[in-house]
Amino acid sequence: MADYNVKTVKGRFAPSPSGRMHLGNLFSAMASWASTRSRGGRWLLRIEDLDPQRSKPQWSRWIEDDLAWLGLDWDEGGTQGSGDAGPYMQSRRGEVYEECLSRLVEAGYCYPCSCRRADLLATQAPHQSDGRVIYGGRCRPPQMPCRCEPRRGEALRLWVRPGEEIEFRDRVYGRQRVDVARDCGDFIVRRGDGAWSYQLAVVADDALMGVTEVVRGHDLLLSAAQQIYVGRLLGFEEPAYAHVPLICNAQGVRLSKRDGALGMEELRRRYTPFELLGYLAWLGGQIPVAERLTPSDLASIWDWSKMPQTPTIEIK
Ligand code: GLU
Repeated sequence: MADYNVKTVKGRFAPSPSGRMHLGNLFSAMASWASTRSRGGRWLLRIEDLDPQRSKPQWSRWIEDDLAWLGLDWDEGGTQGSGDAGPYMQSRRGEVYEECLSRLVEAGYCYPCSCRRADLLATQAPHQSDGRVIYGGRCRPPQMPCRCEPRRGEALRLWVRPGEEIEFRDRVYGRQRVDVARDCGDFIVRRGDGAWSYQLAVVADDALMGVTEVVRGHDLLLSAAQQIYVGRLLGFEEPAYAHVPLICNAQGVRLSKRDGALGMEELRRRYTPFELLGYLAWLGGQIPVAERLTPSDLASIWDWSKMPQTPTIEIK
């Protein structure tokens, strides 16, 4: 299991540039930054622009502008990509993913899958509250190693060993135990249109960029088990994980990039950077009242044990 202090601490923020950030994105960024800085670690910014339809360069620039405005500085990455573990934009890392995939394919872990997402959705009730669909196994060979000669348009799926349990400790939600085959199923590592899957890319990137701690929203808690599973197949060292509650609006709905009131544009009109940082720290249980806080003060008081364990925090 990942250890706290052995290596240089390296945290990361890995936003998708599909819109302007909102309070929820900032909440994850703040927690990751503070946790990293509280232990004198390095913080990197990786732009997760794998989806060419949804990602736009202007959103990457806004992410950088908003983080800088708030005082969350990074040592590596971003659109300028300084640092020696780059490139830091996923759209430029195809070769890295290709290499990882070929190792999985050669070991016989991948099989071609011609099932369409729409068919899967039509034939199976979504299993998890996040809408995740567990693959029913139409194209799945009965055992490993799998022969893998995909035809044009076919996706590649990872064959998950039945009964394999992944156990890990989350800094916020504690001990987790996931039966990956039962709770997640076989998952796509490369889509039929050739696009890389998030689950493969994120594992390769975190490992090869030397990330020791992954902080992000509670919606990705189950994904951590899939990522640990892939990471082990590839022989990577495991990062530590901390998932933070999702921020919901007054209607109890998780924020989206279209939620104007809690989006960065409005937040920057309403608050000064120190006020907003204090508000985020207060939401994260770090200070008893929402008052101004500087980034260095936040780093000096950061304490994971104070982070609320509810899956969501509702903003009144
Ligand atoms: N790119 C993902 C997002 O913006 C986050 C992935 C991660 O932190 O692992 O939702």
